[in-house]
Formats: sequence, structure tokens, C-alpha cells
Amino acid sequence: MLLTPHTFIGMAIAHFTGSPILAAPICFVAHFVCDKIPHWDFFSGTENDDGSRTKGWRFFAFVADFGLALSIGWFFFYRGAFLQNDLFGAITLLSGAFFSNLPDAMESPYIFHMDIYKKSKFLEKFTNLQKNAQTQAQPIIGITIQLILSLFSAILLLG
Ligand SMILES: [Zn+2]
Repeated sequence: MLLTPHTFIGMAIAHFTGSPILAAPICFVAHFVCDKIPHWDFFSGTENDDGSRTKGWRFFAFVADFGLALSIGWFFFYRGAFLQNDLFGAITLLSGAFFSNLPDAMESPYIFHMDIYKKSKFLEKFTNLQKNAQTQAQPIIGITIQLILSLFSAILLLG
């Protein structure tokens, strides 16, 4: 799943837990549940070894998704902390945004062919777990599902 829907969904879940501590493990696990929902992302149907994920339009799209997810996370943090004077709630949302994306961040040493991946048995095991937890869908269906989930989460967050 893309980082942007992971962020929206994670923050919505965190909002309902009402605690940054509680949100952390729940959102981390929720990442895997989300990846089980049929989806499509920029790395779908690609091989990691040929380097196609880290160059060309796929990489550009990945950076755009990353930037969007970061902007949305900061928007909701800013809104909570400064516009609603609810720093605790804002930190809770930030915890949700962070931990709901952490599994993908932990996969980045593999995606970017970093040395640390080759040296870490844990990262290798974790990456294999992530890879097997995906349910892929055709682009139009996969994107639509993520849009609906993001919109639904945004409504919950803004409501
Ligand atoms: Zn994932």
C-alpha cells in the first residue's frame, strides 16, 4: 500500500486509541492488515534486483507519495497542536503516522540495496514477512480502494 493511505489510516486508528503509546503497536500491526487489503503501489509487479524501483518515474512517484504522506502528517499535527491546542492528541496522531509507516521504512534498506540489509538477518526476515503480506490488485481497483480508505480516514480525523 502507498505511504499516503497508510498515514491517513494510521492517524485515524491512533485518534481512536487516544494514546501515543497505545497507538504505536496497534498501528504497526495495522500496517500489515492494510497491506492485506487488495491494493496497487509503484513497486507492484516490479523486481527489486534490476533497480527499477530506485530510478525513473517509479522513484519520482515514490518520492511524491513520501512527500504527500509527510505533509499530511504534519498538517494534522499542526492542526491538533496549534489550532486545537491539543498537543497530546497531536502527538497521538504523529505516533500513528510514524508507526503505521515504520514497516515500510524498515524495508527501505532492501529497496535501496543498502549494505546494512545484507548484514542483518533480522531485516531480511522482516522484509520477507512484508513481501508475503501483500495482496495485489489491478491499478485502477487498487488505487480506488486506497482513495476510499484515505477519504474515510480523513473524514474521521476532521469530524
Ligand atoms: Zn507495507
